[in-house]
Amino acid sequence: MKKFVINQIQHFSLHDGPGIRTTVFLQGCNLRCAWCHNPETWGVKPSVSYTDSKCILCGECARVCSEPVNCFEGQNHYFDFSKCTNCRKCLEVCCTGALEECGYECSVSELFEDLMNDSRLYEVSGGGVTFSGGEPLLQRESMEEICGLLHDKGVHIAVETALSMPWSAVMKLSEYIDLFLVDFKLFDKEKHKKHIGADNELILSNLMQLSEIGEISIRLPIIQNINSDKENAENTAEFLKHLEKRIQSVELLPYHNFGVEKAVHVGLKQNEFEIPSDKCLEELKAVYRRHGLKVV
Ligand code: SF4
Ligand code: SF4
Repeated sequence: MKKFVINQIQHFSLHDGPGIRTTVFLQGCNLRCAWCHNPETWGVKPSVSYTDSKCILCGECARVCSEPVNCFEGQNHYFDFSKCTNCRKCLEVCCTGALEECGYECSVSELFEDLMNDSRLYEVSGGGVTFSGGEPLLQRESMEEICGLLHDKGVHIAVETALSMPWSAVMKLSEYIDLFLVDFKLFDKEKHKKHIGADNELILSNLMQLSEIGEISIRLPIIQNINSDKENAENTAEFLKHLEKRIQSVELLPYHNFGVEKAVHVGLKQNEFEIPSDKCLEELKAVYRRHGLKVV
């Protein structure tokens, strides 16, 4: 039986496609956006998260842990993520929630059953299921299986993806997917590599091929001084314009700093970026509209 590694399931979601949806956030990402708002989904395997403000220094975790992870000095508890083997013994004894699981395994059939519990909501609202992450296409085999099952039941399926995957993975899933929510970050190849950890050639090529067969909504995270310039918007809009028949909408998502604190809880460090001004967002929207794209 195939399994997923899930970060969390959000019921009654209103922002990830049409109608009322159940959004499944999957673990694992092959990109490293410097401003990622879900850095806790980067790891593909289940792990442990630690929240310092919830720790009451009881020392129970250190008692059951056989690795040199926990160090107590005065009123401080230092948690060394690099030494943790993810055995999860400490989760059973931490009564405050300072230590929590980050990601859990779930079989395709268990997830399918859970998702179908909301099927009436999907029907009455014109909603469905959205897979997000992380990069959902990394859990390709499980995705193919569950999307096939949901498709057979007539459930609308959306996938939020960066499309930085071999075309074969995208094409196979496109048989079942009603809407691709494509996160597109930067048009310039070198800047893309610098801020995201990979260039965007594969993404652009996949977008062009996908636009021949699938429905697409583009999501553009806007980060001040990174991709908030008009040149990036002009180049992106010019590219999207030629895929226009399949681009349902372009959505501008201003940066927020939620990822900074979430990164700390899983042993990562994230710098804070500037939030774009309303004026900047209006100017960028105008660029996309001028190219005939529907901006939401
Ligand atoms: S998951 Fe295991 S190794 Fe990691 S801190 Fe907890 S008890 Fe120690
Ligand atoms: S068991 Fe939880 S509350 Fe107790 S010291 Fe460990 S992390 Fe802190």
